Amino acid sequence: MRIVEVREVSVPLEGTVANAVVSFAEHTVSLVALITDRKQRGKPVTGIAFNSIGRFGQSGILRERMIPRLLAADPDSLLAADAISLDPARVLATVMRNEKPGGHGDRAGAAAAIELAVWDLNAKLADEPAHAHIARAFGQPQTPRPVPVYAAGGYYYPDDSVERLRDELDGYRALGFEAFKIKIGGALLDEDLRRIDAALTVAGDGARLAVDANGRFDLEQALAYGQALAPLGLRWYEEPGDPLDFELNRALCVDYDGAVATGENLFSAADARNLVRYAGLRAHRDVLQMDPGLSYGLTEYGRMLAHLEAAGFHRSRCFPHGGHLINLHVVAGLSLGGCEAYPGVFQPFGGYSPRCTVEAGMVTPGDEPGFGLEWKEELRPHLDGLLQGATRGRVRS
Ligand code: MG
Repeated sequence: MRIVEVREVSVPLEGTVANAVVSFAEHTVSLVALITDRKQRGKPVTGIAFNSIGRFGQSGILRERMIPRLLAADPDSLLAADAISLDPARVLATVMRNEKPGGHGDRAGAAAAIELAVWDLNAKLADEPAHAHIARAFGQPQTPRPVPVYAAGGYYYPDDSVERLRDELDGYRALGFEAFKIKIGGALLDEDLRRIDAALTVAGDGARLAVDANGRFDLEQALAYGQALAPLGLRWYEEPGDPLDFELNRALCVDYDGAVATGENLFSAADARNLVRYAGLRAHRDVLQMDPGLSYGLTEYGRMLAHLEAAGFHRSRCFPHGGHLINLHVVAGLSLGGCEAYPGVFQPFGGYSPRCTVEAGMVTPGDEPGFGLEWKEELRPHLDGLLQGATRGRVRS
């Protein structure tokens, strides 16, 4: 088997929402297709994935560096031991050829889009859903299971109000979600506390509401918010300070008894190891949110998990950032703690497909082969455009 063509398109996110730090109006996502010479039902077997949402597409890095390296590689050098599927680690090493260690920025998302497409491809070759394929590859139980899910939203809108926020969360509850996350730090503390109060009227209990500051605060602000939030018993307090300010996180963990969540902006196993070494996180309380789509894909995510587990963290403390189909399969396949969803936000990538059911706060992945991205209606036009004429098997990047 060989890859005959790699295609990439940068797709804009829809909407005008913002968190405490960024507006998503300019954000894009790289949608990638690995087209092979294998055929199923008359069509080339094609691996599809994307880097995660809430960042930017990586067309330049993919087209100038990574896709040419992949297409130039000896096809046999990319094969797994079974000689019929691709080895994700070999593909990752190939696209990373001549890249120095460290400096894990945008290239981590570019590599992830390709590496995750390999998992989609391999699952399709095995004619099984990605979660089952991932579970087998990582030695986890293969029983499909509902995954705990929470609805992430509560962004700041140009015309915002606590009534709008309450209506938004009520809408998520009507869809079957029972836990929620909203943004903080985009307003003053008093205003944020009013937003949290409104959200609690829907969540019913602090244990079902998390808040996310998106790395906005300095130490003084992080501690002030921590003291105001502590009596509310919230599910977690996410990214209070700069993601790399481990000392801030450590100091907050000393002062704040509730759970702290962080890690979505750490893109490598080495960074995750430093996080658990130096950021004061408490193994049985805090939450880790590294995201395979931002961090070189599942191969590197597996290395992160090994570091976390060696430091005493159970994988059930992991809730990867990015509420979309790929991470749903990752969470189910790796028996992680749960995942987020962005119902109605971050289209066409956010949320799940009609093949997935959300019920009583749990989401069950569908059983279609791969990640099932083809079943997500909002993605369909973009996939059709990306794959148009793919049966001709031209080699291009
Ligand atoms: Mg976050």
